[in-house]
Amino acid sequence: MLHTQPISTLRRLLVSREISPADLLRSVESSIAATDPAIGAYLHRDFPAALAEAEKADLTQPLGGIPIGIKDIINVKDQPLTCGSKILAGKFTSPYDATVITRLRAAGAIPFGKLNMDEFAMGSSTENSALQITRNPVDPSRVPGGSSGGSAAAVAAGTAVATLGTDTGGSIRQPASFCGIVGLKPSYGRVSRFGCTAYASSLEQIGPMTRNVTDAALILQAIAGPDPADSTCRREPLPDFSKALSGGIKGLRLGLPEEYFGAGIDPEVRAAVEKAVRKLEQEGAEIHPVTLPHTSSAVATYYIIATAEASANLARFDGIRYGHRCENPENLLDLYNRSRAEGFGPEVKRRIILGTYVLSSGYYDAYYRKAWKVRYLIRQDFTRAFEKVDLILGPTCPTPAFKFGAHTSDPLQMYLADIYTIAANLAGLCGISLPCGRTAATPDTPALPIGLQLLAPPLAEPTLLRAAWGVEQILGEVDLV
Ligand code: GLN
Repeated sequence: MLHTQPISTLRRLLVSREISPADLLRSVESSIAATDPAIGAYLHRDFPAALAEAEKADLTQPLGGIPIGIKDIINVKDQPLTCGSKILAGKFTSPYDATVITRLRAAGAIPFGKLNMDEFAMGSSTENSALQITRNPVDPSRVPGGSSGGSAAAVAAGTAVATLGTDTGGSIRQPASFCGIVGLKPSYGRVSRFGCTAYASSLEQIGPMTRNVTDAALILQAIAGPDPADSTCRREPLPDFSKALSGGIKGLRLGLPEEYFGAGIDPEVRAAVEKAVRKLEQEGAEIHPVTLPHTSSAVATYYIIATAEASANLARFDGIRYGHRCENPENLLDLYNRSRAEGFGPEVKRRIILGTYVLSSGYYDAYYRKAWKVRYLIRQDFTRAFEKVDLILGPTCPTPAFKFGAHTSDPLQMYLADIYTIAANLAGLCGISLPCGRTAATPDTPALPIGLQLLAPPLAEPTLLRAAWGVEQILGEVDLV
């Protein structure tokens, strides 16, 4: 069961030569063969190429010999890239590595396969993938969350040691919470997006999805830091994140926003998080009430800014430069229209239409400009809260994983799944979701994972990781299916 061990254990075994990188890869390969047909997390994997890399793996590097699964929105040289969309599936092979992949390779890791996702990262359940369904390994009648649903399901099912996801409004933290694993969204600008297909450029970040906080810190260390190829990447030198994994929560000031425990929250989620808070208080954390008064505007603000940016970013899929091209176009306009109409799914079209509308003359001021003003108010809420506390703590999501189809007919209900995660992206914060117990099992539903979210100010990953590691010591590590 090598593939179910955390990276730190595997590294010990690799360095002492008790196992080889090839043994580990074969273990992952056989677990995928046994389990993934029922889960559907993987879109692609290339074990012959990975085994060739494993032969050369530099075990002196921090991730030497560790296979890592990649959300299929990130370019991995010579592997297909789909972004969960028909517009790219079968039509595009990445000609280069994204910066995060170059860095993973430099740290000795092996990016061996690609994971399913909502089309262009738009969604909260992976049901918007145009390619396949991904099931929650805890309860296959439920969604794994999204948009990084494949990345979360693979870690939870034990078919990946660790994965990369992306988080624009919650897409790392929400699926981590639904599948009962650890998911870290770095601060805006901490990790290069060069080679990651853009959805909403002022919001998204790439981050690790793992078995425990130590693994998340190891991967973050490898992928983060300034990158001349991405001008939005912060230039501050990278701290040593492993140093943060000590000290625990004693003396840390944790703020509980009243808005994250109010209407709409599932009673079991609330009870689990409140119970965790009591334990943390007993262990020496200081608990303070805080208020984030603009929380109720966060989802609306996000869906104006994110769709506006998506409408511009997705203009590159025009039937000429990348991906699907319609048959026998009558003229250039017909080629654009039909290639896009045939290639994009309904949610992507909805967002392109919405985004084009909020940017159009006459509506720009009423919607887009106003959304940016509200975005500053949301940021200010956090700045004020962080004057009193070191971190914000609450549930990651208002509910545990929901059933397939529960929200597909009502996009607004789907959008509300991100109510506690979205504001962190609008404010550029870093955040993490950690396992926080489960719901009570019933005769027809197994106990479902519940996620606890910690948020810290921009570039405060050391504080975030110190607290997350401390919480994990108290609440326990991921409990695999
Ligand atoms: N669920 C949100 C959306 O649909 C967030 C997605 C994400 O973080 N990529 O846009």
